Amino acid sequence: MEALKQKIQNEGKVLSETVLKVDAFINHQIDPTLMQQIGEAFASRFKEAGVTKVLTLESSGIAPSVFTSLQLGVPTVFARKRKSLTLIDQLYTANVYSFTKQETNEISISKDYLQEDDVVLVIDDFLANGQAVLGLKEIVEQAGASLAGVGIIIEKGFQDGGKILREQGIRVESLAILSSLQNGTVTFSE
Ligand code: 5GP
Repeated sequence: MEALKQKIQNEGKVLSETVLKVDAFINHQIDPTLMQQIGEAFASRFKEAGVTKVLTLESSGIAPSVFTSLQLGVPTVFARKRKSLTLIDQLYTANVYSFTKQETNEISISKDYLQEDDVVLVIDDFLANGQAVLGLKEIVEQAGASLAGVGIIIEKGFQDGGKILREQGIRVESLAILSSLQNGTVTFSE
């Protein structure tokens, strides 16, 4: 997606050889025009997949998911990273190790919002080692729902997540794939 690549080149900040900061348009301040285009791109790639729900993780996955949902005409459900102590038996939960925060969060979704006849599109901002997506996939499986695929805004192709998910037969659609962040420079894969 050309507009996204331009934005990454112009406003992304390379923090290290493995971390790209995109607070200027995705993770802190949100560019709504770009987010709308991101939603349209995901919706167009998955429009034949029979998606009934878009599933993501709070907080950075919510904006792209809502724009995608709007295009597909289905709801977004976001997993919470902190669960309330009540109604624990009414939640699907999974453990997710966070690449950026280096801590494990238990993520949860109310059983009210995911059913076995749901066809789920998982969306997230970044794909690094695949832990967030695998946690969401586990929740989809607990609900007995099916996974249509995964939409990622920025995949870091030099980390293992994409390979792990595709080897499991999961359809992964990434709007920008980075081949390297070395020497403070963003390089895209073609
Ligand atoms: P994974 O679970 O695939 O290892 O990592 C993906 C999650 O970690 C995403 O939900 C995202 O929040 C965060 N993340 C991973 N790498 C980066 C990065 O380079 N920049 C930012 N801003 N977030 C990242």
